[in-house]
Amino acid sequence: MSKPERLALLGHPVSRSLSPAMHNAALAAAGKSIKYEAIDVTIEDFEKTLSAFLDGGGAGNVTIPHKQHAFQCMDACTGEANKCGAVNTFWRDDYGRTCGHNTDVTGFATMMTELLGEIPPNLRIAVLGAGGAASAVLTAIAEWPGATATVHGRDLARASATRMRHSVVVKAASMRDPLIAEADIVVNATPVGMSSDEHPVELDRVAPNAIIVDLVYAPQETAWVRDARARGHRAVDGLSMLLHQGVAAFECWFGEEPDQSAMKQALLQAAGRS
Ligand code: NAP
Repeated sequence: MSKPERLALLGHPVSRSLSPAMHNAALAAAGKSIKYEAIDVTIEDFEKTLSAFLDGGGAGNVTIPHKQHAFQCMDACTGEANKCGAVNTFWRDDYGRTCGHNTDVTGFATMMTELLGEIPPNLRIAVLGAGGAASAVLTAIAEWPGATATVHGRDLARASATRMRHSVVVKAASMRDPLIAEADIVVNATPVGMSSDEHPVELDRVAPNAIIVDLVYAPQETAWVRDARARGHRAVDGLSMLLHQGVAAFECWFGEEPDQSAMKQALLQAAGRS
């Protein structure tokens, strides 16, 4: 592929994203002079902004709420992006085609391997939310031996559509469904907790030994993760996933590995955690 001349994150909102700090650290460590910026773009303007950015030599990432829309805008997608129906990383290839990938899949898988080591068989996972991130989680857990999932959405039609896409899902249900209490792992793939201390589901509705995984990073840990840990749950937020999806995106754009420790340092610093 032709190397990008500009990099950006397209989303709404993006002002609190840690991706620019992380990628600018990787670019500096690799001796590249280009910058990674965050561009706030509404749903109405997404397609034309993406197109103009690509025409200007740009490549980048897509975040909430545009990942499924971005998938529709690509000429070619990787297997992961096709499974998710969502794109979080895009570039133009040597033939001028707009290409999309979904590095959230590997980001989530790597975070969970860091947390659990070898993935135990027959895990039951409750996924809260039915958007692009939920699809990435479901694509990753489809590789886990014997795993099954339930998808919980406030919009049952959207949860059912996500179920149809992923054979690992055994039921699409509401956020109030009692099946959440049977899950070994509960994953928040909604934005709840991004800008408030709201919990995506109350912790007394999950099993006492359930592992709590929040894809949200706030930039401090979310209240859901902190409160879960205080109750004795193993709990993790989305910072490690952010790092690993970013590493994979950099590899897509440049065909080389970034300096992962520089990226991690930049993330911790930007989040005020170092
Ligand atoms: P998305 O495609 O817009 O999907 C969001 C999902 O959450 C939808 O099902 C939506 O339901 C639901 N939702 C939104 N607000 C809700 C609320 N107040 N209560 C209950 N459900 C709600 O977004 P996404 O790309 O999947 O991202 C979801 C979250 O994951 C974001 O916070 C994002 O930052 C995070 N994320 C983190 C990483 C990471 O690397 N750590 C990677 C990817 C995503 P409706 O369909 O009814 O709107």
